[in-house]
Amino acid sequence: MSSGPSAGAVLRMSKLFLRTLRDDPNDAEVPSHRLLVRAGYIRRAAPGGFTWLPLGWIVYRNVERIVREEMDAAGFQEVHFPALLPKEPYEASNRWTDYGDNLFRLQDRHGNDFLLAPTHEEMFTLLVKGLYSSYRDLPLSIYQIQTKYRDEARPRAGLLRGREFVMKDSYSFDIDDAGLQRSYDRHREAYITLFDRLHLPYVIVSAMSGAMGGSASEEFLAPIDVGEDTFVRCTACDYAANTEAVRVPVPAAIPLDGLPAAQVVDTPNTPTIQTLVDHLNAHPEFASPSGEWTAADTMKNVIVKLRHPDGTLEPLAVGVPGDREVDLKRLEAQVGPAEIVPFDETDFKSHPTLVKGYIGPGTLGLEGSSGIRFLIDPRIVVGTRWVTGANQPGKHVIDLTYGRDFTADGVVEAAEVRAGDVCPDCGGALEIARGIEIGHIFQLGRKYAEALGLQVTDEHGKLVTVTMGSYGVGVSRAVAAIAEASFDGLGLCWPREIAPADVHLVIAGKEGGPQRPAAEALCAELSAAGLRVLFDDREGVSPGVRFKDAELVGVPTIIVVGRGIDDGLVEVKDRASGERVDMPVGDVVAHVSALV
Ligand code: ATP
Ligand code: MG
Repeated sequence: MSSGPSAGAVLRMSKLFLRTLRDDPNDAEVPSHRLLVRAGYIRRAAPGGFTWLPLGWIVYRNVERIVREEMDAAGFQEVHFPALLPKEPYEASNRWTDYGDNLFRLQDRHGNDFLLAPTHEEMFTLLVKGLYSSYRDLPLSIYQIQTKYRDEARPRAGLLRGREFVMKDSYSFDIDDAGLQRSYDRHREAYITLFDRLHLPYVIVSAMSGAMGGSASEEFLAPIDVGEDTFVRCTACDYAANTEAVRVPVPAAIPLDGLPAAQVVDTPNTPTIQTLVDHLNAHPEFASPSGEWTAADTMKNVIVKLRHPDGTLEPLAVGVPGDREVDLKRLEAQVGPAEIVPFDETDFKSHPTLVKGYIGPGTLGLEGSSGIRFLIDPRIVVGTRWVTGANQPGKHVIDLTYGRDFTADGVVEAAEVRAGDVCPDCGGALEIARGIEIGHIFQLGRKYAEALGLQVTDEHGKLVTVTMGSYGVGVSRAVAAIAEASFDGLGLCWPREIAPADVHLVIAGKEGGPQRPAAEALCAELSAAGLRVLFDDREGVSPGVRFKDAELVGVPTIIVVGRGIDDGLVEVKDRASGERVDMPVGDVVAHVSALV
């Protein structure tokens, strides 16, 4: 749509603050980063921080406007907080520490602690607490579009993961769970409309709620390979989940009666699963339950360290079927806010009962003197038998049976998820894909309201704690995600409502020829019709360069005023399909207006 404040705007490339680049920037890992820099939309200013150039800023504001319009249409009201905030509210919620290294902390001249907000749950809670006191005031949903700061470990991929980025964050306030569910559903609907309007493909997946706390939570992932999230979807039903949130169906327990006794066996030089399986298969006296030993018969015990937000370190052992790796992202999502760090040689030295390559449960091992917390995969149920380390070099134990020979301190969803795994909803096969998280909605519940004392009176005059939801959209990330979803081999390729202009008008003729005056006249007509024009009126630039730039910049309609103008014709090209038609110059305005 060409409506809005910029209708009829003309950007003359002869004056536009723009330099397109022939070469890819060295640090660009993904297409959106590469193309947005090359086409003169953004420039890196800091690690994880970008400057928007004129074209980029127009595109950014188009995205922001659409986000705002959809939030307003849903009846949510816009407010705006500072990004620089005092520590105290974040201490009350524990996030001053729980956010760990991702939080930018700083001090003012008096030595008071401040932070650059990574997200604003606390401040919204306090704002509502300060103004509202009755159930009659609720439900309420308010939002802001604001710069956030996170000291990301790996700022990468340009706008996709910044340390300074723009987020739309909304918060809902309700008196009870049913109200929260309604507010959540309204946001979900608004996000569906919003991402449709942004032309962003998305999959809605079940998610973990991460450092925010809370329960029900879903992410909107744009299914694009450069994304950092991995998700599964069922090939048979509509189940979809971030791999972090995938729940493995728990098999039924097996009766213990009559199961063979556990036995410790010599397995020299078998520190890896493969060497162990080969050794067992080469020795017929070790009869496998299924005829042949496989990695799935073994239990692998991986030791890591948790670094808790207060800095303390805790070793943790995770037992998984030996045919699967421990997925550290999945594990981290379960143990958050703790982070995972490697258990290294020095750690092994300080735990002499742990024999590397031969670690297992048992008196010497994980449940015994090591004092290490031991969590197991949900597939390890009572009556399942495993080959695992015997806590002595060169020895394993066979038929070690859970519920009879060993126990654990709990269950953890940390084993890798694989294509073909069983859907927890319908038993169908799961497939795996990558995605960019563009939005996240979750039911916070009463965590923040409790921590900060947000209560209102109910209809009986009794004080009740408010229940909240929080809902984020990555606005700056969305610009990159849209670019990722639409670019082609020639350059950017914007959806019309996002593009920096409706038409890219190119002069392709010798200076002094009829092309320039004809193009100037056409530009004036397009503008008068309310169309936004990016006008390549540069002098001394070859037609080849102009065409390349037009393709790189990615405005949806390209109009070339060339030799045909002698016959009153111009070329109109659709950037996305590449289709071109010659058209009488007098028809162009009507043609483009119809597209817009
Ligand atoms: P991620 O898992 O990608 O780090 P998150 O789950 O920590 O994101 P939320 O706290 O859910 O992010 O933030 C809401 C939205 O803000 C995200 O869905 C995402 O679109 C956007 N966002 C989060 N972190 C960044 C970042 N570093 N750069 C750009 N956008 C971001
Ligand atoms: Mg998230």
